[in-house]
Amino acid sequence: GIRHESAGKIVLDLEKLYDQTDADLSYVAKYARAIQQQRGDYNGRVLSIRADDLRALAIVYDSSPSGLVERLTEHGVLVTDPRSLFA
Ligand code: C2E
Ligand code: C2E
Ligand code: C2E
Repeated sequence: GIRHESAGKIVLDLEKLYDQTDADLSYVAKYARAIQQQRGDYNGRVLSIRADDLRALAIVYDSSPSGLVERLTEHGVLVTDPRSLFA
């Protein structure tokens, strides 16, 4: 069957994202809240987002998807291994 690798998957750390006071991330936080609402996924510590949505968000930030990933990494709001949070 198809294997889903966690590598390359964009997973946001919601605690860190929503704690950020940095205005730079306000659109990402808004977007994440909207996705949570659409999915009815309110209790997660993390949120996996679509590659398509990353592309759309990158446009808002005048960046490329990889550029935005870099920015999110600098702010420390990405989770590289979500399973490690629940270990
Ligand atoms: P939809 O796109 O028609 O997806 C219907 C259901 O299929 C989703 O219900 C989910 O259970 C499943 N699904 C679709 N794509 C994926 C995927 O890549 N991975 C997984 N694990 N499941 C998937 P759900 O989650 O209740 O979402 C309801 C509707 O909310 C979706 O309908 C879509 O219109 C919207 N939505 C939810 N999450 C996102 C998102 O991250 N981005 C966007 N653009 N829309 C979203
Ligand atoms: P994973 O994708 O590495 O996710 C690990 C854990 O991070 C998940 O454990 C869950 O607690 C959390 N997590 C990741 N993304 C989200 C999110 O968007 N919302 C919320 N609320 N939590 C999230 P969990 O649920 O026990 O899943 C374990 C593994 O099972 C996942 O590893 C994934 O490989 C698979 N899995 C679970 N649900 C789905 C799904 O809807 N679609 C697919 N394709 N795989 C899934
Ligand atoms: P995932 O569930 O492991 O799905 C990995 C990829 O498989 C998705 O990458 C997408 O390309 C494809 N895929 C899985 N389920 C569906 C589906 O029902 N319809 C379509 N058209 N494609 C599907 P993508 O889109 O980059 O999403 C990355 C992760 O974001 C997903 O990993 C899942 O954890 C989360 N996600 C995306 N959309 C939804 C959604 O609508 N509802 C929920 N609950 N989670 C979603």
